[in-house]
Amino acid sequence: MYDLIIIGSGPAGLSAAVYAKRAGLNMLIIEKNPVSGGQIIDTYEVDNYLGIPGVNGFDLAMKFREHADKLGAEFADGTVTGIECVEKGSDTMAPVYKIKTDSGDYETHTVILATGAHYSKLGIPGEEEYIGKGVSYCATCDGAFYRGKVTAVNGGGDVAVEDAIFLSRFAEKVYLIHRRDELRAAKILQDELFGIKNIEVIWDSVVKEIRGEDKVNRLLIENVNNKEEKELSVDGIFVAIGIHPSTDVFADIVKCDENGYVIAGEDGATNTPGIFVAGDSRKKRLRQVVTAVADGANTVTSVQDFLVGKAKS
Ligand code: NAP
Repeated sequence: MYDLIIIGSGPAGLSAAVYAKRAGLNMLIIEKNPVSGGQIIDTYEVDNYLGIPGVNGFDLAMKFREHADKLGAEFADGTVTGIECVEKGSDTMAPVYKIKTDSGDYETHTVILATGAHYSKLGIPGEEEYIGKGVSYCATCDGAFYRGKVTAVNGGGDVAVEDAIFLSRFAEKVYLIHRRDELRAAKILQDELFGIKNIEVIWDSVVKEIRGEDKVNRLLIENVNNKEEKELSVDGIFVAIGIHPSTDVFADIVKCDENGYVIAGEDGATNTPGIFVAGDSRKKRLRQVVTAVADGANTVTSVQDFLVGKAKS
């Protein structure tokens, strides 16, 4: 029986592990991937984490993991398949939850969901190959590397348009490639976009292949109406076709919004007593390493507050 089980070993989960060990909680962190770190392990450079400009994403993830290991955090491999409430708990008794995984079950009084989110992928040739070498899913993270360069954004929603606007401040030229002839993004964003001279919208077009040598240097795009194909010279592409929280398995135990994000404030408390959420799977404005690690710290404080005065079975 654990005081706390953290599900997920990205920045939010690892930060929670550090705070939990320092708080003396009997904790376990369950990780699905063989390598800890979450989304940043695929990020070539993280340039906006305070105090470590330009750190390689994988290296930063390893530092986070080493920190948790140094404090004696316990890890288990497994994919969580469900959470079952064994005892509901009360003002004086802590609840008991069973965490079911593909490699065994565990019992705990509290849970922090830190399973993050994943960017939707195009699933086209070159995409996987050039991740971190010109293919990016996060303009806020990687935009600054395109100073004076030519880049493309694929998508037509709020994120794609915001990304194009953001990138236009660094890049010499930004192509916004969208599969239809109208954008899904909010009108106010569209108005701003259409007023920016170094952004060119390529309508009715899909990216069929990402091409390059060591790094991305061109895209094969197709006009969906006349099926004409052409190559576009670019230094990179930002894929902004949606992001999905990895929360499907928790939908029956905590309340999520219409997009699947778990509803909770900064304290991470969900509608289910004893279950907390931290990081990118929480409904919030900014999903970055710095906000994920802050969530990890906040939720452990909430877990401590929650357990005060409650007997544990
Ligand atoms: P989104 O609104 O779902 O837009 C995804 C875009 O990608 C759509 O334009 C879609 O095209 C396109 N797309 C999807 N699959 C594609 C594919 N396989 N190939 C090419 N294009 C594809 O996603 P989002 O922009 O990431 O936004 C997510 C949510 O966050 C939205 O609810 C958004 O409103 C919200 N958000 C709000 C703000 C804000 O309020 N300031 C800022 C950011 C995000 P179609 O249009 O043809 O479907």
